[in-house]
Amino acid sequence: MLRVQNTLSKQLEDFKPLKDREVRMYVCGPTVYGPGHIGHARTYTAFDVIRRYLEYSGYKVRYVVNLTDVHDDMIKRANEQGITIFELAEKNIKLFFKDMDALGIKPANENPRVTEHIKEIIDTIQALEKNGFAYETEDGVYYSVTRFKGYGRLSGIKLDKRVTGTRVETDKYEKENVTDFALWKKAKPGEPSWESPWGQGRPGWHIECSVMARKHLGEQLDIHGGAIDLIFPHHENEIAQSEAAFGKAPFVKYWLHTGFLNVKGEKMSKSLGNYITIPELLARYDPKVFRFFIANVHYRSRIDFSEDAMAQAKAGLEKFNRLIEALQEVKGGKDHPAALHLVNETRTAFTEHMDADFNTPNAFATLFNFVSEANKLLAEAAAEAAAEATAETALSEKDAKALLDFLREINQVFNCFSFERAKAELPAEAKKLLDEREAARKAKDFKKSDEFRAKLRALGIELDDTRDGVKWRKVA
Ligand code: AMP
Ligand code: ZN
Repeated sequence: MLRVQNTLSKQLEDFKPLKDREVRMYVCGPTVYGPGHIGHARTYTAFDVIRRYLEYSGYKVRYVVNLTDVHDDMIKRANEQGITIFELAEKNIKLFFKDMDALGIKPANENPRVTEHIKEIIDTIQALEKNGFAYETEDGVYYSVTRFKGYGRLSGIKLDKRVTGTRVETDKYEKENVTDFALWKKAKPGEPSWESPWGQGRPGWHIECSVMARKHLGEQLDIHGGAIDLIFPHHENEIAQSEAAFGKAPFVKYWLHTGFLNVKGEKMSKSLGNYITIPELLARYDPKVFRFFIANVHYRSRIDFSEDAMAQAKAGLEKFNRLIEALQEVKGGKDHPAALHLVNETRTAFTEHMDADFNTPNAFATLFNFVSEANKLLAEAAAEAAAEATAETALSEKDAKALLDFLREINQVFNCFSFERAKAELPAEAKKLLDEREAARKAKDFKKSDEFRAKLRALGIELDDTRDGVKWRKVA
């Protein structure tokens, strides 16, 4: 039975979706004013693993990630570049999809955009006005948090009771309470705007998620996610808006939040010079290594990105890929009862760990154990074959296939192992270097042979000298 840590109850709860075996899941998407950064990549990879595990477990998942295409930052950036926010959004949304695809993230069922939901947003704000939760001021329409019983339920925030007072004193229409937030912002000159009952303007940030979640998933969701920074105010405000406008509670059954990604112990920021975009990440690292790195940390933990951590992830992933390669080469042989036993035992442990709030690091500990046990079986088989001078090893092709099939099954969740490498064609340049190295080795010119090895490594090809001759593998 799957159990999840719910930010709302602060407890580990049994996972029971509102509708049997169907999961409606919403994760807050990016503001598309520039390329995504590796913090986004962490959060969307972590939720991709969660979504894939739900599917692996037999749930039908409907997954929505919104795109914030109107926002103060969008207006600022578009002005700097001398383009409209629509042009800016178009460019960055394309890039976002490309990056998500490169990161092996399964596309969402819907990626709704704010600018395509203005009518629904206006309708929802009017419903809030009608229900007595919203009021108009000189510069916009605000949500009155003190009128919503239970404000602070998610984040534990205590309401600041200070009222601005100016409304009474000066008769000017300002915010009633400092915690009140904008549902609609009246347009200032030169800003992109839409017509509304309150004049030209644009939506505030929080309302979009209440509206788009409802439109694409319904009034109640099973899972709502985002990183920890969104708990307050964004998610707290989403609850207040959705429950007050649509009348259904709870808006969300399980709130899941990912930990932040830091770079070498520090929060990523342009001024610190440690800000890494997804295109920059992809230019330097194999996306599969990044996925492996992310999946080896619990989604709720803070994660520290560094070259060392990525090198460690690369070495870890290589262990799996080398095993896959070795298993793909097993031919003939005798069946070994330990192989199937290993698969079944590992699967049980894997699901137990994943069912415990998607405990991927523990799941990987089990999988690393699988790798060493499988390697032991392969070594045993090789030793036996050598002793008997026969190809009849104590691990059959069928066993190897069962082990491989299991890794393929797990890969539905993590999508980071490589099964195609053995079949991949080497580029001509690398082939030539490989032949030349082989000739040098035969001539016992080991210095030259090592030079060719280094040249191949620079092309991303690592060599292993085995009893059966030289083997090559692609590395990041
Ligand atoms: P934003 O574009 O800042 O609105 O963020 C989009 C999503 O990425 C939200 O779910 C954020 O919580 C998440 N996010 C932003 N920065 C980070 C970070 N450094 N680490 C992890 N997640 C992040
Ligand atoms: Zn949101």
